[in-house]
Amino acid sequence: MKAPLRVAVTGAAGQIGYSLLFRIASGAMFGPDQPVILQLIEAPVEKVMKALEGVAMELDDCAFPLLKGIVQTSDASVGFKDANWCLLIGAKPRGPGMERADLLKDNGKIFIEQGRIIDAVAAADARIAVVGNPANTNCMIAASQAKRLPAERFTAMVRLDQNRAQTQLAKKAGADLTAVKNIFIYGNHSPTMFPAYAHATIGGKPAAEVINDTAWLQGPFCETVGKRGAAIIAARGLSSAASAANALVDHVRSLVTPGAIHSVAVKSNGHYGFDALVWAGMPVRTTTPGSYEVITGYAMDDFAKSKLATTNKELMEERAFVADMIN
Ligand code: NDP
Repeated sequence: MKAPLRVAVTGAAGQIGYSLLFRIASGAMFGPDQPVILQLIEAPVEKVMKALEGVAMELDDCAFPLLKGIVQTSDASVGFKDANWCLLIGAKPRGPGMERADLLKDNGKIFIEQGRIIDAVAAADARIAVVGNPANTNCMIAASQAKRLPAERFTAMVRLDQNRAQTQLAKKAGADLTAVKNIFIYGNHSPTMFPAYAHATIGGKPAAEVINDTAWLQGPFCETVGKRGAAIIAARGLSSAASAANALVDHVRSLVTPGAIHSVAVKSNGHYGFDALVWAGMPVRTTTPGSYEVITGYAMDDFAKSKLATTNKELMEERAFVADMIN
């Protein structure tokens, strides 16, 4: 029996948390032979902590063989203690009339604090995955506090955008989902992100050739993927949660599976023309269960270059809004 992995989850009583925790405990994230201890972190609000207690009761009632312990806390230094994975889902939602800059600053305070505490108390091999929005910038902020953990351990999720893009391409081509490969998301987890269809293949052929409809690829395809979150809110009356949780399972599972090729928001280091200091979605290849490399060298046409410039500009603006907090 392997030693249990400690998995810290913030916003654990939220919507995404409710769809996520049961899948982690069932083995979907780390495999069917990997025990886990869930370290559930929530805001110090009585109602929320009570809801968390209910979630923990339901986890108990599932009798998951792999679940070896549950911690419930509003103290991040307890929740992140010795954590091997820190899944940062909790974030302050944008209130009515709130400016983007205010949202960035309010969340910035949360992620500064969490980054500092993770760096101080998490396990030596700790890795961080950020879902709470604005995810790329929150991830950059958390990483800015790390002195011990290297920047590449901090990742933000663009996998839901990749999954959405894969499904849209398959539907348009009338192909099975599994025939679609190498569709990668570049940039921000926001409507500006770019699903680079030119590198995708369907059944081994270029997707653009199979679909043969550039206007659709450049228009409705990019728009549908970019604005899918809003479409789900309009239809469901609530934001996407199960699909976001599922994407986080995919994000982490791919990061611990050597050979996996997938989209992750990582410190750009200037790849694909992004500002070197922002976290941007791009293709990575997992090399070992603990490391990955960015796949460089995909050529970009003029359309792609203009989309990358737009999403990079947004990331740089977000960075500028919080510059005083991280410098
Ligand atoms: P959700 O669980 O629905 O969402 C959590 C975060 O994930 C939000 O920032 C949301 O962004 C983001 N997100 C990223 N991608 C997606 C996606 N594709 N679809 C939907 N959401 C996405 O929010 P809840 O309000 O239900 O729960 C949040 C919980 O976090 C609350 O219980 C709150 O108490 C907690 N919290 C905990 C903190 C802590 O642990 N210290 C700090 C702050 C909050 P968006 O808002 O843009 O949808």
